[in-house]
Amino acid sequence: MRLRTFTGGGFAENGYLVACEQSGAAVAVDPGACAEGMADAIRSEGLDLVAVLLTHAHLDHIEGVHVIRGGVPNVPIWLHPADRSMYAALPEYAAAFGVDVAPQPEPTDDLAHGQRFTFGDSSVDVRFAPGHAPGHVIFVSEEDGFALVGDVVFLGSIGRTDLPGGDFYTLMRSIREQVLTLPDAMVLHPGHGPATTVGDERRGNPFLIPHYGGDLA
Ligand SMILES: [Zn+2]
Ligand SMILES: [Zn+2]
Repeated sequence: MRLRTFTGGGFAENGYLVACEQSGAAVAVDPGACAEGMADAIRSEGLDLVAVLLTHAHLDHIEGVHVIRGGVPNVPIWLHPADRSMYAALPEYAAAFGVDVAPQPEPTDDLAHGQRFTFGDSSVDVRFAPGHAPGHVIFVSEEDGFALVGDVVFLGSIGRTDLPGGDFYTLMRSIREQVLTLPDAMVLHPGHGPATTVGDERRGNPFLIPHYGGDLA
């Protein structure tokens, strides 16, 4: 599997293009302001884009869905159903943040916890990890040793929980049950900032280690 990071916009959001090297089948994860670069790569490398996968529906993670759809018409758009209403409220969220966001095509398919999403000879597993957003999921490849964790956990930090539908205790439970249960060596690719590993966050993330008061995790 080949994973590439695309970063863009005022929120410095990370989108990921994940491709099966044997078949060229690919998925675009969280195409935000970086979507033009992602669309260029899909086109220039002749990838067969089979899906847009969304970790959650915050505007910085979905504002480029229409760009990907423009290059690959009718590509399915997968989102957890608990984030559908937020996705639909994009114009109001954009107004609240004072940013201009294009209208986006509707999600077409529902992600579910435990689902294995296959593209070519590659796959990622879907884990439900709410708290930052009510319908947040992460995508895990045990085989390739990485997880796309969206805004659940960052290098040295965790997702904010003050936005509508956010809940701190739910987020901490998601981190404990869905992230810290992964192998220490697994690389975590977050929605903002650099990659890290499960082990580094388990040992060094001030929100997660007990002597800083992070004993909830
Ligand atoms: Zn978010
Ligand atoms: Zn974000």
